[in-house]
Amino acid sequence: MRSDDAQYTYRSADCRFGLSIPSSEMKVILRFCVQAGRKETGGILLGRYTQSHDMAVITEVAGPPADSLHRSSFFIRGIKGLQQLLNQLWRRKEYYLGEWHYHPFASASPSGTDEQQMREFASNRALNCPEPVLLIIGGDPNRDWNVKVAVYARNQKRIELSLVTPVT
Ligand SMILES: [Zn+2]
Repeated sequence: MRSDDAQYTYRSADCRFGLSIPSSEMKVILRFCVQAGRKETGGILLGRYTQSHDMAVITEVAGPPADSLHRSSFFIRGIKGLQQLLNQLWRRKEYYLGEWHYHPFASASPSGTDEQQMREFASNRALNCPEPVLLIIGGDPNRDWNVKVAVYARNQKRIELSLVTPVT
């Protein structure tokens, strides 16, 4: 596999949920993390589902909207420009699939605020995504970063996904 085609693939233990993200888009996320310094940041994950609907295939990531709130221990994603972006993507048959977050030099586990927001996004009609994924980068984005991925399906506990294909 050429390195520019490399994908990170994550799956739930029961294989009902998955996420794949090209390493090029993971690099885009890491660049946003480096820019954010000691503050949290985040954005949205865009792409499509496989036909069997068991895998969210990320094709593009977006950075924090201008009205987002960045703090050292939380991040509230803004909405400025989001609807226009979703409309543009929709024409290419690409959709909102979930969120990404950065927890600077900290654990990649979701915070209470994260969990609450994901539940809200799951029932947000404009987003039209009942099972959004949350990808969190923890640690140092320049070297020993780590990732946690989970799905928030309505009326269910968080479903964790784990890495199945390390990038070569
Ligand atoms: Zn967070």
